[in-house]
Amino acid sequence: MRTHVKVAVIGGGVVGASVLYHLTKAGWKDVLLIERAELTSGSTWHSAGGMHTVNGDPNVAKLQQYTINLYREIEEASGVSCGLHITGGLMLAGTPERVDWLRMAQARGRYLGMELELISPAEAKKIYPLLDEKHFIGAMYDPIEGHVDPYGVTHAYAKAAQLGGAEIVRQNRVVDTRPRPDGTWDVVTEKGTVHAEHVVNAGGLWAREVGRFVGLELPILAMEHQYFITEDLPELQGQKELLHVIDFEAEIYMRQERGGMLLGTYERAGVPWSPKTTPWDFGQDLLPNDLERIAPSVTVAFEHFPRLESAGIRKVVNGPFTFAPDGNPLVGPVKGLKNYWVACGVMAGLSQGGGVGLSLANWMVEGDPGADIWAMDVARYGDWATRPYTNAKVRENYSRRFRIRFPNEELDAARPLRTTPIYEKLQAENAVFGDYCTLEHPLWFAPQGTPAHEDATFRRSNAHPHVGDECRAVRETCGLIEISNYGKFEITGPKAAEWLSKVMACKVPAVGRIALSPMLNERGRLIGDFTMCRVAEDRFFVVGTYAAEVFYLRWFEQHLPPSGVRVRPCAMEYLGLSVAGPQSRALLQPLVDQDLSTAAFPFMSFAKMDVGAIPALVGRVSFTGEMGYEMWVTSEYLRALYDLLHEAGQGHGLRNFGGRALNSLRLEKSFGNWAREFRPIYGPYEAGLGRFVHLDKAHFIGKEAAAAEKASGGVRKLITLAVDARDADAIGDEPIWHGDKVVGWVTSGGYGHTVGKSIALGYVDNAVANETTGFAVELIGERRAAVRSADALFDPKGLRMRA
Ligand SMILES: Cc1cc2nc3c(=O)[nH]c(=O)nc-3n(C[C@H](O)[C@H](O)[C@H](O)COP(=O)(O)OP(=O)(O)OC[C@H]3O[C@@H](n4cnc5c(N)ncnc54)[C@H](O)[C@@H]3O)c2cc1C
Repeated sequence: MRTHVKVAVIGGGVVGASVLYHLTKAGWKDVLLIERAELTSGSTWHSAGGMHTVNGDPNVAKLQQYTINLYREIEEASGVSCGLHITGGLMLAGTPERVDWLRMAQARGRYLGMELELISPAEAKKIYPLLDEKHFIGAMYDPIEGHVDPYGVTHAYAKAAQLGGAEIVRQNRVVDTRPRPDGTWDVVTEKGTVHAEHVVNAGGLWAREVGRFVGLELPILAMEHQYFITEDLPELQGQKELLHVIDFEAEIYMRQERGGMLLGTYERAGVPWSPKTTPWDFGQDLLPNDLERIAPSVTVAFEHFPRLESAGIRKVVNGPFTFAPDGNPLVGPVKGLKNYWVACGVMAGLSQGGGVGLSLANWMVEGDPGADIWAMDVARYGDWATRPYTNAKVRENYSRRFRIRFPNEELDAARPLRTTPIYEKLQAENAVFGDYCTLEHPLWFAPQGTPAHEDATFRRSNAHPHVGDECRAVRETCGLIEISNYGKFEITGPKAAEWLSKVMACKVPAVGRIALSPMLNERGRLIGDFTMCRVAEDRFFVVGTYAAEVFYLRWFEQHLPPSGVRVRPCAMEYLGLSVAGPQSRALLQPLVDQDLSTAAFPFMSFAKMDVGAIPALVGRVSFTGEMGYEMWVTSEYLRALYDLLHEAGQGHGLRNFGGRALNSLRLEKSFGNWAREFRPIYGPYEAGLGRFVHLDKAHFIGKEAAAAEKASGGVRKLITLAVDARDADAIGDEPIWHGDKVVGWVTSGGYGHTVGKSIALGYVDNAVANETTGFAVELIGERRAAVRSADALFDPKGLRMRA
């Protein structure tokens, strides 16, 4: 075994092997994989090997496509067979909602280059004779689905990596990882210590334990998972191999395995495996079968595929594999641990392993994953993702694997967890709450006497008219919204301004002023958007998306100078309320000494002031398009602030509003949102943030790339569309058509209640970005005409928020 390497990969499952292969392919040859037992000894060896391209996140779907297309490449590079069977696949729908879901998945596939085809149950029966068509009302055919041999795939990656210069050591457990002061690592194994510049935790079933070597509690949990293989069915003899099938109503997946059928299910009462600690002596073992547990699904499957009922069972497999709370992998560098990387929590290693390996290798070698992998980034979880939280969420997610997640649906597991001091007050106002990184926040307010409940649907819900009332109140008088669910950072020190000028693309504001601050990576892509408020020469209060807190901190940490700047996250220390609407100044003025007139406290001003007896940081900003004030207070004051503002608001028509109304109001203003309009695949000029990029500064990260984007105009543009929708608005990821071509995709959408229009924001190719007509947005399988608006649909000159 080498004693000094550039990278030590811990774990020889399909994911670790893929990482190793991609590192060698990217040019890092001095890499070592250390495996406790034999390759595939975790969850990989008993995987059913199924693979498909469809995924709820288009960026993950692209990486799944990449993975499937990679198998031929690694077979050629290694000479090892992956046992590749591209059979094609069928997704079967038994309810109208599932047909809607298929339509939306098919539509999304259009700009991903996927050829998904909606077919009738009769057509499905023709290509899949085992099904009884009377149980289905629709189906979707995907030509790129099938299965592989997990053992073959892992060995193909491993062999190809070895041919590229990598070393693989088996039967050698890593027992510790110790950081050195220079950021390199001592990887302590049963057979000696290796000094590695980088460590990759690809420990799969043991990734949690490997993480604990360095005090890291990764939010992953293994679940028991069962499938069985039937005896051979004579009618399959000599026939073309059957397609891979997902039957959503039975909640099963199925494929042919030699002469029989392999059928697996994600049961509703799933069982975690080793919830606290994974035993090191678990080898290539299987868990005891419990067919009773999967009986409800299997019974439905026998009705839907009657031939199976009389087929004997040849083999049952019950094996564990790991999940993150949202079911997506955990990939990337870990905040606070220099040169420590993870590639774990991969629940579909045969669909995703290639994409995970590619992204991580790119990240390590090039400094950037090369794709938008926010959905897989380990930094999407903070300390709030505790082990019990993870346990509750993973079980919930597992049980819902084949159920529809509606865009307006809130899930119940591990709730309520975090609440602010006004939670009960908002409850008393009949708030319908959403869960945001475990923090409860109001989505909308149901009328008193009606249930605080929203129906889950792809169409406009029962919330629609009430959200409309909230929006109108903000536009006509004023509204109050809790804004505690933002991320906040206190950035202080003699070099704070200089440093912020380097990491943010905007001009650093003067004391008492606010700047909107895009943050770019070296490639000039958007990796954050903030509201930067300058409290004093050496003190800033920076507000951004809370879900990205760890992601931002990881970036800040990488770019901090050794001294002179301190970054302190304070999201839950400072909670906030905002009043917005034409009456907001009249409401607030009597409560503060400061003159709030536009002359004295104009738009984008920021100051410490006492609101009543409450010390607050007050900013005059607006995400609604109305005159508005954001007030940040330490948490113990929030209740008093809420009461004070409510009382003061009585004469001004004040009304509570929630996140749904805020979304509608910001769409009317064409204001973008992080993770929707602003993501690392877009540049600031494409996203319409160019006016906040200060190219005159001597230096900031991404300046050269941003200047080049400005000069070239980028490749796409964010546009606003008014859509001729019926009862369903765009939600995001729908294709945008121009004429008979798909020219882009929606990033977010909804109904603009005060402009009376359905609105979609989205990116389109530059070639059509200045057209006005000819657009259509595909809403639940229907192309609805859309007109581009060059300006925001409400108050395009922004006069109201500056009034
Ligand atoms: C029953 C079942 C069916 C499945 N069906 C499918 C399917 O159809 N399609 C699909 O895509 N996925 C499927 N999966 C999931 C798939 O198996 C996983 O996504 C995949 O195996 C994850 O691979 P991994 O490399 O991350 O983890 P693992 O396979 O668990 O590999 C981790 C490796 O790390 C090694 N290791 C851990 N700690 C150390 C240490 N300290 N020192 C040295 N080595 C260490 C382990 O020995 C192990 O070999 C299924 C899983 C199960 C259980």
